[in-house]
Amino acid sequence: MKRSLTKETINKEEQDVSVSGWVDTIRSHGKLIFIDLRDYSGILQVVFNAQKSEVYELAKKLRPEWVVEIQGTIKKRPDNLVNNNIETGKIELAANGLIVLSESGALPISIEKDGYEMDEEKRLKYRYLDLRRKRLQRNLKERHRVIKYMRDFLSERGFTEIETPILAKSTPEGAREFLVPSRFHKGKFFALAQSPQQYKQLLMVAGFEKYFQVARALRDEDPRADRQAEHTQLDIELSFYSQEEILELVENLYIDLVKNLFPEKKIKEIPFPRITYQEAAEKYQSDKPDLRSDKKDENELAFAFITDFPMFEWKEGDKRWGAMHHPFTKPQTDDVAEIKKDPSKILAFQYDAVLNGFEIGGGSIRNINADVLKEVFKVLGNKEKDIMEQFSHYFDAFGFGVPPHGGIALGIDRFLAILMNEPNIREVIAFPKTGDNKDLMIGIPSAVDKMQLKELGIEIRGRKNKK
Ligand code: ASP
Repeated sequence: MKRSLTKETINKEEQDVSVSGWVDTIRSHGKLIFIDLRDYSGILQVVFNAQKSEVYELAKKLRPEWVVEIQGTIKKRPDNLVNNNIETGKIELAANGLIVLSESGALPISIEKDGYEMDEEKRLKYRYLDLRRKRLQRNLKERHRVIKYMRDFLSERGFTEIETPILAKSTPEGAREFLVPSRFHKGKFFALAQSPQQYKQLLMVAGFEKYFQVARALRDEDPRADRQAEHTQLDIELSFYSQEEILELVENLYIDLVKNLFPEKKIKEIPFPRITYQEAAEKYQSDKPDLRSDKKDENELAFAFITDFPMFEWKEGDKRWGAMHHPFTKPQTDDVAEIKKDPSKILAFQYDAVLNGFEIGGGSIRNINADVLKEVFKVLGNKEKDIMEQFSHYFDAFGFGVPPHGGIALGIDRFLAILMNEPNIREVIAFPKTGDNKDLMIGIPSAVDKMQLKELGIEIRGRKNKK
């Protein structure tokens, strides 16, 4: 018999069905054994009656989390036994066949409750069990819906999703990068893309005009509790769009998405307030102010855009200028002398999207003036020769007809954590790493085979590469 999902049995009263899934709970009442059978669509109560002795004897052996296939007839429950908390609460399955597909030992973590009460390291070690938890099933399904919504929204507006390389070039975008040694070209390296930034700009030169990608950004950040070395962003780039047009597109995306997928949420202010960096600093002492009227209200969403960031920030530790966003951002002046004279005074066409006190996105209009770009790199401490070497592809491209363009990257993990009222982004990521960047389930980072290192021309000094 073809398998039915538990949810599909609702309208199958008096019909014979076959269902498969996990034994969620077991209640034994003398001559009756009840189990809740769980599959991805929900839960179904199954009754084993001692009168069907062969099946009943087998059912006695069942333990939680065994995987089973059960045949039987769907019956209406007596009125006093209806359970309104589950979708299949008005029916149950009277079993007449049972096949054990696989057994389970006692689980090392409990998956009954929401899991907040438990040691997180243990949850992460057994993440594949942790994910059986209702809350996490829901989070990942919502994540899928949100990403699908974003994809559809942009696709309907003429955008093309284009994948860009993960093995990319080391670039000064601000974050420390993961380096990947090249086996064929010893001594040379790829860098894992900290964002598709340069590629998406080159796609504008290639004439795509409206690009997006649900992209992974890989950054070798210092350990921080609520950061991940790889995070997912909705990466967007557009040609011939002004800053305000880009902000409107993003605003409409968020508004539509919230209205359609999370109708219980209330957006505090539409259009989203546009606040300059300076105003935000003066009024809120923060470039990601929390503008909610009631911070205890789980359903309030206070979006805002912060604009007009300074182009440069002074890095006291390194005693040099850094780019507030990244060097490809367009300064609000094209006057090279002005930039040289006092970098601290130069503003940029840079903007952040902010939600409930978190930065959930950032982007800029890009600099397509090669002379200004060279000057920006010089302020950042690069020598002209090095700039031309490292970015020759970029400067070459600038000589072949570059449309004015700009874009943004919207963080998906943080946005979801806020929507799902989760305390951190790990709760909305299937396989997150710990704050100090370990995957406790798979056990990485891990040592590698000596031969692999030799092939790469790498020798580990000091610390042993113990397996
Ligand atoms: N590449 C930038 C980032 O990942 C976003 C952008 O400027 O579009 O933060």
